[in-house]
Amino acid sequence: MLQLYMPLHFLGFVYREIKHSLADMERMFTLLDENREIQDQPDAKVLAADQATIRFHHVDFSYETNRQILFDVSFDIPAGQNIAVVGHSGSGKSTLARLLFRFYDVRSGCIQINDQDIRTVTQQSLRAAMGIVPQDTVLFNDSIYYNIAYGRPEATQVEVYTAARAAHIHDFIESLPEKYATIVGERGLKLSGGEKQRVAIARTILKNPVILIFDEATSALDSNSEKRIQAELKRIAQNRTTLTIAHRLSTIADADQILVMDHGRIIERGTHQQLLASGGTYAQMWELQQQEEIDQHQQESTISA
Ligand code: ADP
Ligand code: MG
Repeated sequence: MLQLYMPLHFLGFVYREIKHSLADMERMFTLLDENREIQDQPDAKVLAADQATIRFHHVDFSYETNRQILFDVSFDIPAGQNIAVVGHSGSGKSTLARLLFRFYDVRSGCIQINDQDIRTVTQQSLRAAMGIVPQDTVLFNDSIYYNIAYGRPEATQVEVYTAARAAHIHDFIESLPEKYATIVGERGLKLSGGEKQRVAIARTILKNPVILIFDEATSALDSNSEKRIQAELKRIAQNRTTLTIAHRLSTIADADQILVMDHGRIIERGTHQQLLASGGTYAQMWELQQQEEIDQHQQESTISA
C-alpha cells in the first residue's frame, strides 16, 4: 500500500510544482495522462484554428476556493493582433496564460477561440495551436536537440538549426564539446536562465503555432540580447494572435492593445499613446522605467569611464 501511495503522491507533487511554473505543460499532460484535473468532454471537438480570435468573456478565477485571483476579466485579441499585459508581480498576468492553455478551467465566464469555448474542444487540438515561452523553462533531461525539436518532432535537422539560429542559441550549442547531443536539464548541463529561455524560444519558433504566448519571455536576458531576441519575436509574431506578458514596457510599446492588470482586474486598456495621454497607472510605470533606464545607462558609462 505504502509503495503504491508514495509514487502517486510524488507524482502529484511534481505535477503541481511544474504546473505552477507553467513549464513543459504539454509533456506533463502526456506523462501524467491518468492524473488530469482537466478532462476532455465526451463529445469534445477539434479546435478549428487556421487563424485565431481569442475572447476572454467575464472571466472569474480562483486557485483556492476562498481567494479570488481574477475578477471579471474581459478582452478580445482579434486574429493576428498582439495584446500585451503589464502589471505588478502577482496581479494575475501568468494566470491568464495558464487559463488560455487550459491548465485550469475558469470559475465563471468563458474563454473562446473563434467562438468555440475552449472547454468544448480537445486539449490536444487546443495545445497544438499554441506555443508558449514561459517565465521559467524546465528542460527535459535529454539532448539539447531533443529539447528544441520537441516543438515539432518531425522537423528536419535544418529546421531545428534554423530555429536555434533565430533564437540566437545555435553558436552557443556548437561551442559545446558534444554540440547538439549535449544532455541538458537537472541531470545534465545546467543552462542559465537566459539560455533556457532561448531554447524555449527556438522550440516555439519551430512549432510555428497560430497562437503565441510570451510570459516575460526575455526577462532572464541581458538588455542587449533582449533587444536582439525581441526583434526576432516580433518577426515571428507578425500575423499571429499573440499574448505578450511584459516586464519591460519598452518591449511592448507597439502592441495593438495594452492591458494593465492590478489585483486581478484590468484597470486600464489602450494603445501606448492612449495610455500615456490618459496619465494613469501605465503612464506612471512608464515614467519610472524610463528613469530607471537612464540611471542604469549613467551607471554603466560611469563604470566604463
Ligand atoms: P503575475 O504573473 O502577474 O505575477 P500570477 O498570475 O502568477 O501573477 O499570480 C496571481 C496570484 O495568484 C498571485 O497572488 C499568486 O500568488 C497566486 N497563484 C499563482 N499560482 C497559484 C497556485 N498554483 N495556487 C494558488 N495561488 C496561486
Ligand atoms: Mg507571472
